[in-house]
Amino acid sequence: MPALAGQMMAMPLLISSLIRHAARHSGDTEIVSKRVEGDVHRTNWGEVEARSRRVAQALARLGCQPGDRVATLAWNGYRHLELYYGASGSGLVLHTINPRLFPEQIAWIANDAADSVLCFDLTFLPLVEKLAAELKTVKHLVLMTDRAHMPASSALPQLLCYEELVGAENGEYAWPPLDENSASSICYTSGTTGHPKGAVYSHRSTVLHAFGSALPDAMDCCARDVILPVVPMFHVNAWGLPYSGALVGAKLVFPGPHLDGKSLFELFEAEKVTFSAGVPTVWLGLLTYMKTNGLKFSTFKRTVIGGSACPPAMMKTLQDDFGVEVIHAWGMTELSPLGTLSKLTSKQEALPKEAQQRLLEKQGRVIFGIDMAIIDDDGRSLPWDGQSAGNLVVRGGWVIDSYFGHAGESPLVTVDGDPGWFPTGDVATIDADGFMQITDRSKDVIKSGGEWISSIDLENIAMAHPAVHEAAAIACKHPKWDERPLLVVVAKPGATVSRDELLGFFEGKIAKWQIPDGVAFVAEIPHTATGKVQKLKLRDQFKGYQLPGT
Ligand code: ADP
Repeated sequence: MPALAGQMMAMPLLISSLIRHAARHSGDTEIVSKRVEGDVHRTNWGEVEARSRRVAQALARLGCQPGDRVATLAWNGYRHLELYYGASGSGLVLHTINPRLFPEQIAWIANDAADSVLCFDLTFLPLVEKLAAELKTVKHLVLMTDRAHMPASSALPQLLCYEELVGAENGEYAWPPLDENSASSICYTSGTTGHPKGAVYSHRSTVLHAFGSALPDAMDCCARDVILPVVPMFHVNAWGLPYSGALVGAKLVFPGPHLDGKSLFELFEAEKVTFSAGVPTVWLGLLTYMKTNGLKFSTFKRTVIGGSACPPAMMKTLQDDFGVEVIHAWGMTELSPLGTLSKLTSKQEALPKEAQQRLLEKQGRVIFGIDMAIIDDDGRSLPWDGQSAGNLVVRGGWVIDSYFGHAGESPLVTVDGDPGWFPTGDVATIDADGFMQITDRSKDVIKSGGEWISSIDLENIAMAHPAVHEAAAIACKHPKWDERPLLVVVAKPGATVSRDELLGFFEGKIAKWQIPDGVAFVAEIPHTATGKVQKLKLRDQFKGYQLPGT
């Protein structure tokens, strides 16, 4: 018992409270979706809440019990949003599956989570037809469309129609009071090594993340915003935007599967988008399209870029050529996902522009609710001097403490004897003002003669060269130095650059011994299901690569 108990109401932090708030206070604020079917659909927070209640009823009618997992294979769209609220809000656990994973991985994940219902967009019908026999626990398959778009015949005789299920309910449903610590949703990590693992979010962690991520020094979301999440709802809840959007009552615009430069640009303009978020690769496509066609944004003002390091050259282009503020962010599935974002503090406003730019290029400062530290291999914390690089560890109200199905195996580590820190697998520096900078994933670090070379630094420099479309730096075996950097490059269409010219471009920008030894030009760099460079695959591809002089 506390010495003196607080005497405030114990209101649980529930996902249903977000949608109720949005419906009541921003009921007519629009939710616009470019549908798989090709047209543009318009609804609002009020209708989304009403239909989410029907979704909750429909899932209960299918036999779902509290805690059961409802899986989705779906793009960003209003039906997916209804499932976010209808499933989680009613005490079920939404399991968003990344459709870009290999089919075997999808089946493995669905079985591991023991999903009982799978809802999916039309795009994924062929995939689900192929997988259905492998899905051991799924009792109901729901196609997220209306009767008119249901396939005439399908290998799946029991296929249910989403609109029919929702249409059969009356919406007379009250959101149940739940334990705020109960599970609300699951997202699996991409599993670059071994099987993917599930991060199980709770109502409490999700609402706290929504609060934290909407803050001015984080995503700075408000009721006047028109938010277009390019980041998918199938991976880490589109960085929480479906929740923070409801919390502030913003208009949401969903691109569905239409993620090419032209479609995105047209949607940004037509819906007067002010804010967006996505991984760097998405912006590559959009900016190339806009540059080729001499286009400018008229309302788009700021974007969060994260998921992998945002190349400074891309940041500069967005800022200087397109008038879009770039907020560099770092996070991961295990953090729901946001951890840090880079925004200047008041004392830094007086700094010269270049010094400010260098800070903004870092991954930034933590949101209140997250603690971070950098540690050496013995768990001792390292100084925040902007130089010492160590293993980045975090803790906080929206950080996992164990993985789904592995509750007994704690991944947590101790910092200076203090237990309970999650090891991120990233290597970082932190400066005296708390600006964190990722130098690498620990498994991607290039170790040359015992010294670390940051692959991100090398990539950022290469990406600033006008002829480079994309670049990745990987470690190559070296007889003397153990490892040396190899730069793998995709040139811009029509552009040419020689190895010597490109390596010359590094001079003066980085210590001489850190300059890559070799350059390999390729047509394409492989990406993971979440749009990151697949370093493991690249390292495999260049396993026996003969660096010059070896
Ligand atoms: P997955 O687990 O699928 O790889 P996550 O989305 O969880 O995907 O990825 C988290 C990792 O992505 C981080 O641990 C970090 O290595 C990398 N990452 C995320 N944001 C950034 C960033 N801004 N700069 C550098 N790396 C980043």
